[in-house]
Amino acid sequence: MTAPEQLKVLLTKEEIRGGVARLAQEINRDYRGKHPLLLGILKGSFVFMADLIRLLEIPVEIDFVALSSYGSARVTSGEIKVVQGLRSKVKGRDVLVIEDIVDTGITVGYFIDYLKKKKPSSLKLCALFDKPSRRKVHVPIDYLGFTIPDRFVVGYGLDYDERFRHLPDLRFIED
Ligand code: 5GP
Repeated sequence: MTAPEQLKVLLTKEEIRGGVARLAQEINRDYRGKHPLLLGILKGSFVFMADLIRLLEIPVEIDFVALSSYGSARVTSGEIKVVQGLRSKVKGRDVLVIEDIVDTGITVGYFIDYLKKKKPSSLKLCALFDKPSRRKVHVPIDYLGFTIPDRFVVGYGLDYDERFRHLPDLRFIED
C-alpha cells in the first residue's frame, strides 16, 4: 500500500495557495456587483471551494453536485451519472462551475451541457488543475489554476480509491 511519503510533490501547498489567490482575484474582478452561484463537483472540489470562497469579496451562493463515471478509479469511461443532483435554481443565475481537475474533459463537459439546458444567464468554468494532454472533449476553462503533466495526482481534495484527499500538497503516484 502506498504511504503518503512515497508520493512525489508536484505542487506545494504554498504554490497552490498562490494559484487559488490569483483565481479569487480574477473572480472578484469579473463578478463585481453580481451574486454568482458556485457549483462544485464532488468530491474532489471541496477543498478548493473552501479555500477559494474565503478569498472572495462578492456575495456568493454555493451548491455541490456529485457526478461519477462508471469504471475504475483512474480512467474516466465516458459514461457519467448524477449521483446527487442540484438543489439550486440555475435559470437566470450567473453560474460558475468549480472543478478540481479537468482530464479528458468528459465529466465537466457533460455537466456544462446539462447546465446549459437550464438557461443560466452566464456559465463559466473554474478549474484548479488541467491535464490537457489527455483531452477528449473540448471544454473552455475560463479560470485556470495550473496546467500539470499527465500524472495521476492526489492531495488537496483529490483521492486514489478514497485515500490522500487530506494531503495539503499536490502529489503524484510514480508508476
Ligand atoms: P475527466 O472526466 O476530465 O477525465 O476527469 C475528471 C474527473 O476525474 C475529476 O473530477 C477527478 O475526479 C478525476 N480525475 C482526473 N484526473 C485525476 C487525477 O490525476 N487524480 C485524481 N485523484 N482524480 C482525477
